[in-house]
Amino acid sequence: MLIDTYGRVATDLRVSLTDRCNLRCTYCMPEEGLQWLAKPDLLTDDEIVRLIDIAVRDLGIEEVRFTGGEPLLRPGLVGIVERVAALAPRPQMSLTTNGIGLERTAAALRDAGLDRVNVSLDTLRPDVFQKMTRRKRHDDVLRGLEAARAAGLTPVKVNAVLMPSLNDDEAPDLLAWAIEHDYELRFIEQMPLDAQHGWKRDGMITAGDILTSLRTRFELTPEAQDERGSAPAERWVVDGGPHRVGVIASVTRPFCRACDRTRLTADGQIRTCLFATEETDLRTALRSDAPDAEIARIWKLAMWGKKAGSGLDDPSFLQPERPMSAIGG
Ligand code: SAM
Ligand code: SF4
Repeated sequence: MLIDTYGRVATDLRVSLTDRCNLRCTYCMPEEGLQWLAKPDLLTDDEIVRLIDIAVRDLGIEEVRFTGGEPLLRPGLVGIVERVAALAPRPQMSLTTNGIGLERTAAALRDAGLDRVNVSLDTLRPDVFQKMTRRKRHDDVLRGLEAARAAGLTPVKVNAVLMPSLNDDEAPDLLAWAIEHDYELRFIEQMPLDAQHGWKRDGMITAGDILTSLRTRFELTPEAQDERGSAPAERWVVDGGPHRVGVIASVTRPFCRACDRTRLTADGQIRTCLFATEETDLRTALRSDAPDAEIARIWKLAMWGKKAGSGLDDPSFLQPERPMSAIGG
């Protein structure tokens, strides 16, 4: 098991497949992009599958989420999904993506064994999308979402970040649209994980703001607490059900006490938290022919050092060196 000193057990592994991306969301990356990881530093497909195998066989991981950067940019993605689906025990598998290119790959991913997708979409307005992502790809995302639903990658979840003066008036429209299309919408509070260090606590749209805005059009009833489990999203039943809406309030209502995550970066580093300032290198062990038991031991030791919380509300909080796109959101 991957257990820490606070008794939390990690059963959910986030695997970043690349730090590259074809969008430039303002809260994530600067316009010019970033210094990408060098190819030899990236884990190969074989190395990724081997680590996931160790994680599910020896470390109690039950769920694997592929992310990035943009995971659909990883050429071997379908093959990786197929090989992970053949592992015993077979983990649940999902993908967090900006949706560009999903139209072409959704069916192949489903056939390979992917269970679900989370697609990020912050706005229904193409002009606002272009401002927020610095790319004209709104329509591609909508088509990707439809393809995901048609392929049965359900429930299709949609992640939205609200930014002041850009899309902070869109929460009710996004929810009405999600209900109409049978997508499960979750808002994520903006976190200090952008490479440009542009996050400001004062300016951010909080969970409280989002709920106030939604309540101008919908009746929201909190979902029973036991249904949340370790899920980061607090959920509300909309207008008596069956639809729900989630809010991931990492800043204003952190859920660290129930965290069940461990993270693997595209260059083979273990992170116990999005906000960790330390990482544990697995790539060196992998490439020096360490046996599975040794890799599992290093991973367990990393987990044992997991901090109690993100430290976000501490005045001495330091933003991690790696931006979100290189950690894997
Ligand atoms: N490129 C894929 C995507 O956008 O879904 C996967 C990686 S992205 C880093 C994962 C999620 O993190 C997205 O839903 C994105 O909106 C969110 N995200 C990125 N930067 C963020 C930030 N500073 N605060 C909150 N969420 C952020
Ligand atoms: Fe790319 Fe996702 Fe970051 Fe947007 S949030 S720039 S899509 S990695």
